[in-house]
Amino acid sequence: YYRRSWSSESSDSVISSESGSNCYRVVLIGEHGVGKSSLANIFAGVHDSIDSDCEVLGEDTYERTLMVDGESATIILLDMWDNKREGEWIRDHCMQVGDAYLIVYSITDRASFEKASELRIQLRRARQKEDIPIILVGNKSDLVRCREVSVAEGRACAVVFDCKFIETSAAVQHNVKELFEGIVRQVRLRRDSKEK
Ligand code: GDP
Ligand code: MG
Repeated sequence: YYRRSWSSESSDSVISSESGSNCYRVVLIGEHGVGKSSLANIFAGVHDSIDSDCEVLGEDTYERTLMVDGESATIILLDMWDNKREGEWIRDHCMQVGDAYLIVYSITDRASFEKASELRIQLRRARQKEDIPIILVGNKSDLVRCREVSVAEGRACAVVFDCKFIETSAAVQHNVKELFEGIVRQVRLRRDSKEK
């Protein structure tokens, strides 16, 4: 699958083997159309250069190493939630394999926000007793005039979910880098508290 480093200063040679504990599988879930693939494309660096080979490798899986708080982390990002071609099993699979989850809704679509709650419940059921890092993501924050879900509602929902919250815009690339750094920090918090 596709691998790429996040910033120009860290070249691909920096990417080490995946055996280390610094490699995290992050899964994008959420209603169709909320912007999961758009976020994944930014992560993959599709917009970084014209002759990107992302299409050729065309799986719904991306890998990238980023520096977060002076420590490198490799994220394997899965964007296969909407892959109907593969059938329903793919969703069960997604619910099982993530080290962390990005539950995405669109701030312009209340139904997608309500769906996010459903997904949180499903995830809790699928991974009972596990303290899984989750970020609730309100995407399309650039569409201010079409907003149906307020920032306060998103934040309140994250409190109920017991997870972090961020609003992003894949369209204008706002908070996207922060989102992926944020999920790394969430995984590390749990890792570090286990080590104590
Ligand atoms: P997915 O079904 O969740 O993978 O959603 P997509 O990434 O395919 O996006 C669905 C549609 O929303 C596309 O037309 C995108 O261009 C658009 N879109 C995605 N993110 C944003 C955003 O942050 N702002 C705006 N204005 N449009 C977005
Ligand atoms: Mg998609």
